[in-house]
Amino acid sequence: MDIEKEVLRTVEKYKLFEKRERVGVAVSGGKDSVVLLYILKKLGFDVVALMLDLEIGEWTKVHVSNVSKFCLELGIELKVFDFREYFDDEFGEVLARIAKDKGISRCSVCGVAKKWGLNYFAKKIGLDVLATGHNADDESQNVLMNFLKGNVEIGSGFGPVSGSRSDLGFVKRVKPFFFVPESEILKYSRKMKFDILYDKCPNAVGTYRIELREWMEGNVSDEEKVGIVEGFMDKISELEFERKDVGFCERCGEVCRGEVCGFCELVSNI
Ligand code: AMP
Ligand code: ZN
Repeated sequence: MDIEKEVLRTVEKYKLFEKRERVGVAVSGGKDSVVLLYILKKLGFDVVALMLDLEIGEWTKVHVSNVSKFCLELGIELKVFDFREYFDDEFGEVLARIAKDKGISRCSVCGVAKKWGLNYFAKKIGLDVLATGHNADDESQNVLMNFLKGNVEIGSGFGPVSGSRSDLGFVKRVKPFFFVPESEILKYSRKMKFDILYDKCPNAVGTYRIELREWMEGNVSDEEKVGIVEGFMDKISELEFERKDVGFCERCGEVCRGEVCGFCELVSNI
């Protein structure tokens, strides 16, 4: 698969962004987001890299250092954020404490924090659109995971564009790798010899998603993954979803359904 072409096709077909727009790329230091940043720059888009320093020990330090070098070499502006305005401790420590107190996995806590942080910091620097490295493997997992859990609500936000209600304070989030299998991104990254870390996050254990991903690796082919994503896209285009009532979190001001958002709820009383 020519993933550069596929990215361009998705960007154009789903109107993710245009050449005149400044596009934030959420970069973790992993292959997906690094390859995405590289390809968008190569295609001539005006990109700025946005990275959350999650302070998960040496693992994060290596990622931040790799991304800094990568951006310097390519002449891409990099903005690194951390959670120090909220917590005195390293975020990795805070994560561990929350997970222990609330009886949930660190990976789940981190997922909520990343989603919150990316929207919050992207808005803070005035970005209207933020691209992430989510790929067809992630998205087919979403479909199956929600199906298995009996949750059909995923439908309303499923697609290469989500959270585009800027009237509500959502930065438009886009996924140019929506139809690209992870194996193709890995192949590209290896071929380009990008100097990055391929190890999994040390906290990536103990979630339903991780178990499902491992099962899918041996049982679902790339074609089937893309088929799941495309099939679901077709299906939901025929459906109508109710627009949910949303408000603003009384603590941080971010959009949320109840009075307090998921992130503020998690970090309360710690
Ligand atoms: P993950 O949730 O780790 O599967 O990552 C999914 C996507 O979220 C990545 O492809 C990145 O675009 C973004 N992302 C994950 N971690 C970070 C981070 N520390 N800083 C910025 N973006 C991130
Ligand atoms: Zn909040």
